[in-house]
Amino acid sequence: MAAIAQDLAGTVLRGLKDLPGRAAIGEPLARHTTFRIGGNAEVMYWPTQPGALVEAVQWAQQVGVPWMVLGGGSNVLFLDRGFPGIVISTRRLRAVEVDRTELRAQAGAPLARLVRYGMGALAGIPGSVGGAVVMNAGTRHGSMAAYLCWVKALDGRGRLRTLGPAECELSYRDSALRRLGWPVLSAGFRLSQRDVEPQRVLQERRSSQPMGFPSAGCVFRNPTDGPAAGWLIEQAGMKGYRVGDAVVSELHANFICNAGRARASDVLALIERVRCRVQQRFGVWLGLELDVVTPL
Ligand SMILES: Cc1cc2nc3c(=O)[nH]c(=O)nc-3n(C[C@H](O)[C@H](O)[C@H](O)COP(=O)(O)OP(=O)(O)OC[C@H]3O[C@@H](n4cnc5c(N)ncnc54)[C@H](O)[C@@H]3O)c2cc1C
Repeated sequence: MAAIAQDLAGTVLRGLKDLPGRAAIGEPLARHTTFRIGGNAEVMYWPTQPGALVEAVQWAQQVGVPWMVLGGGSNVLFLDRGFPGIVISTRRLRAVEVDRTELRAQAGAPLARLVRYGMGALAGIPGSVGGAVVMNAGTRHGSMAAYLCWVKALDGRGRLRTLGPAECELSYRDSALRRLGWPVLSAGFRLSQRDVEPQRVLQERRSSQPMGFPSAGCVFRNPTDGPAAGWLIEQAGMKGYRVGDAVVSELHANFICNAGRARASDVLALIERVRCRVQQRFGVWLGLELDVVTPL
């Protein structure tokens, strides 16, 4: 096994060697997720130019090496065995520019910067532009869909495409980009004078979400009809329920927190117990908002 892994890492490093940016072998993914959980990436690569991200993805597609794009790592759970391929981080693609009422941002720009330019409904959501676009991240005050004008993304054949909002099909924590697995390189947003006041949004979050422990935000999607996932979990008596160091938050039952050294297997076991209990009690099977990264 070790020899195969060495071989894969060597192949990837050779494939990336002329591209700008940094690559690391055996990078601990726990360092790159807000959950602070996950094994190692066979190779992690931080491109410093959008073109390098494009070439890295095209190369991985051609040679058949598993790959994924990671933004702020605030909505993912990597397994304890890690990722057997190349994790391409957008952390070094952070440029933002504003042209009157349009804001253009590279995929790795933190959402917090967009909030400063006026996209107040997103205040307090961790993560990057790319992750937020594919997830259609948002709060009850509004989501990415309210601001999005265009997206530059790579299609399944590695061709660059510019898509309008309709083609992106943003819906509740979902998009066509997410379903198709198309990497987002940059996006444009409409700024308005009459946006939501970020302080108000932040205040609401502070009183309703656990801030002290690592987490990945809401784990379950709210059902389309009826009460929210958090309410169902709380009423099913699961607040404070624990597997290893993975704990259902006492403050917001749709959050699972890492209370120390939680492993991905703890989180997954806890997810199944919560789902089964809610199913028994209310007949509702909760879908996941959290992205559990399970490469073949
Ligand atoms: C404390 C906390 C509070 C949160 N509150 C909210 C909230 O109020 N509302 C909300 O919507 N979310 C919330 N989240 C979840 C999360 O912050 C959002 O989903 C965020 O948009 C994820 O962005 P990211 O860059 O961290 O994505 P990641 O976690 O890095 O990735 C998530 C998914 O997006 C994909 N992805 C990342 N970048 C790209 C790219 N450039 N192109 C294509 N795919 C990409 C990844 O492959 C993965 O499938 C919260 C999370 C935490 C930890």
